[in-house]
Amino acid sequence: MWILRRYAFCTFTRAAAQQIPVLSRVSREKYKEKRRMKYVLVTGGVVSGLGKGVTASSIGVVLKACGLRVTSIKIDPYLNTDAGTMSPFEHGEVFVLDDGGEVDLDLGNYERFLDVTLTKDNNITTGKIYQSVLEKERKGDYLGKTVQVVPHITDAIKDWIESVSLIPVDGKEGPADVCVIELGGTVGDIESMPFIEALRQLYFSVGQDNFCLIHVSLIPVLGVVGEQKTKPTQHSVRELRALGLIPHFLACRSAQPLVENAKQKLSQFCHVPVANILNIHDVPNIWHVPLLLRNQSAHDAILKQLDLLSVARHVDLQEWTRRAETSDNITKSVRIAMVGKYVGLTDSYLSVVKALMHACIACSLKPSIDWIAASDLEDDSAKLTPEAHAAAWKNLRGAACVLVPGGFGDRGVKGMILAARYARENSVPFLGICLGMQISVIEFARSVLHLDKANSEEFDPQTPDRVVIFMPEGSKTHMGSTMRLGSRRTLFQTPDCIAAKLYNNSEYVDERHRHRYEVNPDIVGSLEEAGLKFVGRDESGKRMEILELQDHPFYIGVQFHPEFKSRPGRPSAPFLGLVLAATGQLEAFVKRQQNGNV
Ligand code: GLN
Repeated sequence: MWILRRYAFCTFTRAAAQQIPVLSRVSREKYKEKRRMKYVLVTGGVVSGLGKGVTASSIGVVLKACGLRVTSIKIDPYLNTDAGTMSPFEHGEVFVLDDGGEVDLDLGNYERFLDVTLTKDNNITTGKIYQSVLEKERKGDYLGKTVQVVPHITDAIKDWIESVSLIPVDGKEGPADVCVIELGGTVGDIESMPFIEALRQLYFSVGQDNFCLIHVSLIPVLGVVGEQKTKPTQHSVRELRALGLIPHFLACRSAQPLVENAKQKLSQFCHVPVANILNIHDVPNIWHVPLLLRNQSAHDAILKQLDLLSVARHVDLQEWTRRAETSDNITKSVRIAMVGKYVGLTDSYLSVVKALMHACIACSLKPSIDWIAASDLEDDSAKLTPEAHAAAWKNLRGAACVLVPGGFGDRGVKGMILAARYARENSVPFLGICLGMQISVIEFARSVLHLDKANSEEFDPQTPDRVVIFMPEGSKTHMGSTMRLGSRRTLFQTPDCIAAKLYNNSEYVDERHRHRYEVNPDIVGSLEEAGLKFVGRDESGKRMEILELQDHPFYIGVQFHPEFKSRPGRPSAPFLGLVLAATGQLEAFVKRQQNGNV
């Protein structure tokens, strides 16, 4: 259920932070002469977690459905340079891009909704902006001047936005038509002030026809009376206006559809025409949000505001409609045991959940995820928290398949090893992602090769049986942006493996990575002899990317994170394989795939 909480949903790293990138000023000016970029700014008011990200990406979807090319920028006003060092417990998952950017999970939502490939530059943080300004200051670029928030920080923000909006993200040549900018946080937050001011200046410089401001707000209902309250929105619009930004649209989040009276009040007190008051009430799944906007003719009103009516085509959301309805009508589900460390906050594994959803829908199934805190499976928990221990094992045994996702640190590792062992010994379909793959290697080395102390250097640096080792190029002292990050190629060692068949490519696959440790190449020979085959490796042949256990219906580990490239309608191969295997359809699917019938 899509409800009023952070909608179960959805960057320059160092190099980029050093200098504003992309297009030279000359080519930018040339482009601008031809046609101006149209900006849609999405801000948020009243409370955080309203689902601005989904709202903003859904706006992008309806504009794309009108034939426009859309890109997006997410602004995160925190001081971290990027999301790489932030805890998934606190902030949800760290999303990884092709170029290795470690960014806010909302960028994942944009990639999935708009089917684009963003760059790290598409996520702006206060940290990146200050870093770039301070570097320029040290170089002497502002010699003689006092460097200030206004104009230096605000200019840097504007330049960044204008440059990055021109990067093509949809595989086509040249810049997009529209750039959706989502400003994180809530209007009035101290840390977002320089961004608000920069956006106000941007609005002024690009002019009315090229800028559209949509303010997402909450319309709560108070208990007994049951009346939809508009006052919090009125206050937040007043705050926005005081900062010089006048919203053209309100996107009102509410549990139930907005009543006419509330719309009238909002229009009158917030100075927004009734036709521009959009309502995003709770819906069964997030794929309905673009449809909701279309049903309220949001696309027409936004196109009008941006003077794009003449270039847009008739809105076509057939595929979205089919997807949303299919998903609503699925009744059968498949139980998936998700054994991880950060199971308290489902946003910590947002892309994994989305990838499971994509795979399940392709099989006309609903994912029923049993969240299992890995530490609850451990022997210690039998004594300390016996109920949680029993429940965890019951869930694991009741599931049709097991997934161990990525993670860092040793909490829960013992439990993950137990889960991997359970799946291996009981022929239960298993998918290990990144840490999950490393776990399966440790488990196999301990149980089958009888290397009792087999471990990863991450958890036991002194172990004599280092089956997972620190990667030579990593850094143990600097945590930000020092992992093996982004898209890398995996070469299949044989076309005769499940992974190659699922990817429907016998040669290679490009997936995104985020890890510091890897399987020790010295142990690979013994593991393979005992049946754990490394069917996918990097171009050097020394780096293990995909493992498959022989004589098991489906036991796969991947060093990369396939979840980041999964798309609605184009599920990620390892996830699809897991769901197919869990429901006894894998063999038939592979046969159909080989005959070209999928
Ligand atoms: N902690 C492991 C590593 O750094 C796995 C990382 C992950 O799962 N993303 O290699």
